[in-house]
Amino acid sequence: MAFELPKLTYAYNALAPHIDALTMEIHHSKHHQAYVTNLNNALAGSEDIKLNIEEICKNISKYPVAVRNNGGGHFNHSFFWSLMAPNAGGSPTGDLAKAIDASFNSFEEFKKLFSTAGTTRFGSGWAWLILKDGKLVISSTPNQDNPLMDVTEIKGQPILAIDLWEHAYYLNYQNRRPDYIAAFWNVVNWNEIERLYVNEMGKLLKEAK
Ligand code: MN
Repeated sequence: MAFELPKLTYAYNALAPHIDALTMEIHHSKHHQAYVTNLNNALAGSEDIKLNIEEICKNISKYPVAVRNNGGGHFNHSFFWSLMAPNAGGSPTGDLAKAIDASFNSFEEFKKLFSTAGTTRFGSGWAWLILKDGKLVISSTPNQDNPLMDVTEIKGQPILAIDLWEHAYYLNYQNRRPDYIAAFWNVVNWNEIERLYVNEMGKLLKEAK
């Protein structure tokens, strides 16, 4: 079983006007598809093609650079699509809201710090909210690296991510990355982020017992 492009749970035009339909279509059907195709090519003939992409990322130092770039691309984009939804945005609730307030003083302050991580990442990459040893941490990675990878400086379990590559926003926002990041908040699916947070915290508590 080779890696496959996951279907989106919403239409290409569902996130407009914040993320336009053509950007979504090219990003998913061309860019993400290329990462999947190139990952399968890079692992052709290897048993590792049957592994979970998270497992590959966690041991990425054992693989050639084509697996790092395209495996990272596959994980990162699959994750990114799941974090967005139409009629979303707003603010988190429940345990995640409490954890964000405890870690960053307020949701507004968190948004500012996460946005700054996005605007200050030079070139292509990603900004992340991760769980690191049970604590929420904001980080960023270059290229298609991610916080699961054993080569990444700040490691943890991703909770939220934004794609900072120009292909994610250039058609609609051109060079205005900060405008794209500001618009991103309108499509963040906080229900899903909270589900991830609660799920990961549950695993950590179980491990601690
Ligand atoms: Mn992308």
